[in-house]
Amino acid sequence: MWFGINLKWFVFPLFQGVIMVIKEFKYDVPTLDKGYANKSLYINLDTYEIKIEEVTKEMKEKFIGGKGFDLYMMWKYLPKNKRTKWDDPENVLCIAGGALGGTSNFPGSGKSIVTAVSPLTDIIIDSNVGGYFGPYLKYSGFDVLSIQGKSEKEIYIYIDGEEGKIVIEEAEDLSSETYQLGTILTEKYAEEEREKRDVSVVSSGPGAEHTRWGCLNFSYFDPRRGYARFKQAGRGGTGTVFRDKKIKALVVRKFGVVTKNNNPADPEALKEIGKKHTKEMIDLDPKQNEMRMVGTTHLVKIMNDHDLLPTKNFKYGSDPQSDKIGHEVYRTLFEKGPDPCWKGCAVGCTHGVKEFVPKTGPYKGKTVSVDGPEYETLGGVGSNWYVWDPHDVLETNFYCDTYGLDTIGVGTGIAFVMECYEYGILDKEKTGGLELNWGNQKAAIELVHQMARGEGFGVIVGQGILRMKKHFAEEFGADINLLNDIGMESKGLEFSEYMTKESLAQQGGYGFALKGAQHDEAWLIFEDMVRGNLPTFEKKAEALHWFPMWRTSFGLLGLCKLPWNDIVPEDNREYAAGNVRKEGMYVPDDLADPAKIPEHVQNYVKYYTAVTGNEIDSVEYIRMSERVYNFQRALNLLLIPEGTIYRDLDYIPYRAMGPVTEEEYLSREDEYYLKELKKEIGVNPEGMSVKEKMAAVRKHREESYEKLKDAVYKRRGWTENGVPTVKKMKELGMDFPEIIELLEKHQ
Ligand code: SF4
Repeated sequence: MWFGINLKWFVFPLFQGVIMVIKEFKYDVPTLDKGYANKSLYINLDTYEIKIEEVTKEMKEKFIGGKGFDLYMMWKYLPKNKRTKWDDPENVLCIAGGALGGTSNFPGSGKSIVTAVSPLTDIIIDSNVGGYFGPYLKYSGFDVLSIQGKSEKEIYIYIDGEEGKIVIEEAEDLSSETYQLGTILTEKYAEEEREKRDVSVVSSGPGAEHTRWGCLNFSYFDPRRGYARFKQAGRGGTGTVFRDKKIKALVVRKFGVVTKNNNPADPEALKEIGKKHTKEMIDLDPKQNEMRMVGTTHLVKIMNDHDLLPTKNFKYGSDPQSDKIGHEVYRTLFEKGPDPCWKGCAVGCTHGVKEFVPKTGPYKGKTVSVDGPEYETLGGVGSNWYVWDPHDVLETNFYCDTYGLDTIGVGTGIAFVMECYEYGILDKEKTGGLELNWGNQKAAIELVHQMARGEGFGVIVGQGILRMKKHFAEEFGADINLLNDIGMESKGLEFSEYMTKESLAQQGGYGFALKGAQHDEAWLIFEDMVRGNLPTFEKKAEALHWFPMWRTSFGLLGLCKLPWNDIVPEDNREYAAGNVRKEGMYVPDDLADPAKIPEHVQNYVKYYTAVTGNEIDSVEYIRMSERVYNFQRALNLLLIPEGTIYRDLDYIPYRAMGPVTEEEYLSREDEYYLKELKKEIGVNPEGMSVKEKMAAVRKHREESYEKLKDAVYKRRGWTENGVPTVKKMKELGMDFPEIIELLEKHQ
């Protein structure tokens, strides 16, 4: 049975009984004004209190929206006199859209941002996600939703933006699995078929209940296929927090989510800039990445060609088999045509497989639909495991989604386990009989099922690499130094799927990222390693300032970053160099760099002004991110253990910097390491043993990483320990007394 269409199998047993309403709350649905609802919604699950608060002018000026509002709410509600842990009732799970979210004529304008104290990192995680929830929440009257406390009973929360009603209902009998819940609740709250598009559901799954890798799935109803599909807020365990609070689902219903109801300040200007950017996506995508046809799967070939595709737990960066999980294979498996996760997004990259039959687990032999895979999933549960069957990747993708598991966490985490198994640190006795050698999909998918069932070795693995390292060292006597070298995590968050060994700038991109090892702050590998445009520490530091700030803006405004730099103007290089004249446009000094895609940055600035009415330039645009970025870094000081040096948290494992094993070293010796020894380190490698050469490279690379830290901290206006200075916060206008008090303890 294919539950994407036939709901009877699930609906009948679950909604025949009486649903218990725990709390009902009525409100007046506001009209949006220049992108804002100007209200926030707070729900406390200890007491089932529901309250609506004003979004102030100061909030909008300093925190902008999206992630900024999430962080503002975390600051408001997290206790200041204790270190809140992820499973404390005081932890606040926040979800926000953004002022530009809900626009359907500019590509990529439907994202939401989730924040919480992470079970993996113990600091703030932020995760950007598609689907309809964020925009629908805003059009229902709320720029941000904050949920604190823990419910005694399993519940779901329904926000009705049509009738102005919020209801908390018991959900003891509902499955927590995403594909079931999303489908059932869409059906329940859409009175007619055409209303299904007006409902969005957030859910997680049983994997989130037993691991720290829980993700949140945000639904969007796909009228072409006739069922609800899902995008994931994957990183950092927000789904684990969600299930810990005993939330099975959030549902929002809102009709008329169209650009004009966002009440933009200048609808004509918005129409014009939206048309320009959209046309470019449609015209250029077929010539560039074909994301409208193959999504982000095209990246497999690009990464493999540049030795950046992680294989065998980031040991190597390419493999002759990579084509087997590349875009030409998925082109034939995916449904044809553009596939947007938000209305009107001309990139339309979120492809999926309509009919797939799993070989294992509870859906074995049944026909299901799969959303994805995207590049990160292919790298994580494909190449990094040395699994090259595209159907195996689909199976893991499907189960991770419906179980509420992050495919990056699961991918990088199990790759680490496989390497430990290969070294004999683990054996069948320790894994409960699973032979976790490279490429053993059968054993790896069984681990995923164990995570959902809360059984066996899967539960140990699901605690994440940081905690596995401790467990393997303490319980199995493994060498902690080796585990630290090969365990691909930073701050407790597993690396996303790019090799960084030969790009110092990207090592910083991962290590200095606020939330842990995710590439969404900076992806500098090409600029640094391939194009050689960042030769000095100062240039690298400048890039590690501008790009994280620029990318932060997507999270503040409810946007997707792909339409910024995955499809670029054909004259980008010439325009950035000032050689192309365009009517009414010039390239300011701050944008004279092709990697910034200056014309696109200018489009976004115009887009922001057209919606909010705030006249700003590209420098001020970066500045608004800088305020929130520094605020997040400061707020984390509430959460890190007493006595921790912030700088020490910006570590990366040595495998992210260079070769850990002899075979890794030898595989790249001629291309990289001999040159480095001669030119940069100034030694003659002739006559040196491999061990000696590796040690010299390691020393040099570890020192370079620390030097880069110094340069980046200086550029960002932080102390040498990585804490924003009081001076910096004053300069940014973020010198709130409580924040200054916190910073002063760490200056
Ligand atoms: S570019 Fe792709 S992921 Fe981004 S909003 Fe459009 S369809 Fe969704």
